[in-house]
Amino acid sequence: MKAVCWHGANDVRVETVPDPKIINPRDAIVKITSTAICGSDLHLYNGYIPTMEKGDILGHEFMGEVVEVGSAVKNIKVGDRVVVPFTIACGNCYFCKHDYWSLCDNSNPNAWIAEKLMGYSPSGLFGYSHMLGGYAGGQAEYARVPFADVGLFKIPDGLTDEQVLFLTDIFPTGYMAAENCNIQPGDVVAIWGCGPVGQFAIRSAYLLGAERVIAIDRVPERLQMAKEYGKAEVLNYEEVDVGEALKEMTGGRGPDAVMDAVGMEAHGTDFMALYDKAKQAVRLETDRPTALRQVLVSCRKGGHVSIPGVYGGFVDKVPMGAVVNKGLTIKTGQTHVHKYLRPLLEHIQNGEIDPSFIITHTLPLEQAPHGYEIFKDKKDNCIKVVLKP
Ligand code: NAD
Ligand code: ZN
Repeated sequence: MKAVCWHGANDVRVETVPDPKIINPRDAIVKITSTAICGSDLHLYNGYIPTMEKGDILGHEFMGEVVEVGSAVKNIKVGDRVVVPFTIACGNCYFCKHDYWSLCDNSNPNAWIAEKLMGYSPSGLFGYSHMLGGYAGGQAEYARVPFADVGLFKIPDGLTDEQVLFLTDIFPTGYMAAENCNIQPGDVVAIWGCGPVGQFAIRSAYLLGAERVIAIDRVPERLQMAKEYGKAEVLNYEEVDVGEALKEMTGGRGPDAVMDAVGMEAHGTDFMALYDKAKQAVRLETDRPTALRQVLVSCRKGGHVSIPGVYGGFVDKVPMGAVVNKGLTIKTGQTHVHKYLRPLLEHIQNGEIDPSFIITHTLPLEQAPHGYEIFKDKKDNCIKVVLKP
């Protein structure tokens, strides 16, 4: 089959690789009809994640049709149309049972790597390096999905791929990030980053009852989308002092909740130059202001901080004094996608949101390298790329 393979920083290639096979009775094989490129893929594309190997298959936002199931799969059958949560979860461990699906204890055979380096064991994710399970991703014609009974979500008839594809990641991610803001009636929520995650977070914040959403970025068409479709007030951080502007817009108090939907993308910070090979895999340091620092400093006293943005290793110089003295509550994490599938599908079916608004580019799988380039560089007004195998 054809698949998008990682070969190093800024180097992805569409290659012919062996088809995936059932290797566990709980697996299923999915023939992929749509698969997207995520901001999280950019961290791999940028070369920030050291446990990638040449030839690894990328992609974690995918859907399609089931073409084969293992002997122990009960709820899924060949021919089912499914979306695939990007987080791999067994459905049976302590964490899955408590709705912490992205913290599953049984989905990462390589958890020992992080355990040894950093003292914790992360769960498995599709297409996201060997430390997170070494699973082949879904920017391909086919993918093997473990724990198929819980790792596949059937889609009712009458909805297009474009309407449901983002249930795999960015819609639940924006939604959980907004939930983590603990929104109360009358609240002002400030969101850094108007990429796909930020855009879904803006809409979700309103769905959850925010009075005002203020969105921050520097890319004009992303700010435009936030304003026009998201009904957010927008700030271009290259044009205004964001901290001052937020104070002014909130009567001097600061937003009730703040969100970092940027992560390691953080424009203005050259993570690669700061990356210290000698401390590879455990340390990312910076002296430069990241979005994260601004997020923490801008929040009102007693406010809520939501961090869907992905970070690796240690990001130092976090103003912990502000966190303590302002009594902030911080919530973060990979999204518990499984928990949100059903309720968010209902929002789509009710017509409250049509997630296809985010797509600016649909390309054949073969053009993935071009897709990565325009998404990373924000060329051609690119906000979200969907690939069609
Ligand atoms: P993206 O790269 O398209 O969006 C990031 C946006 O942040 C860009 O529009 C960029 O211009 C803007 N930005 C950069 N520096 C900024 C700054 N200093 N202030 C304000 N805005 C700034 O990516 P995305 O797909 O929207 O993803 C955003 C983040 O969410 C990434 O870190 C990604 O890894 C993460 N993510 C997390 C989860 C999760 O489960 N927690 C899931 C998906 C994505
Ligand atoms: Zn993603």
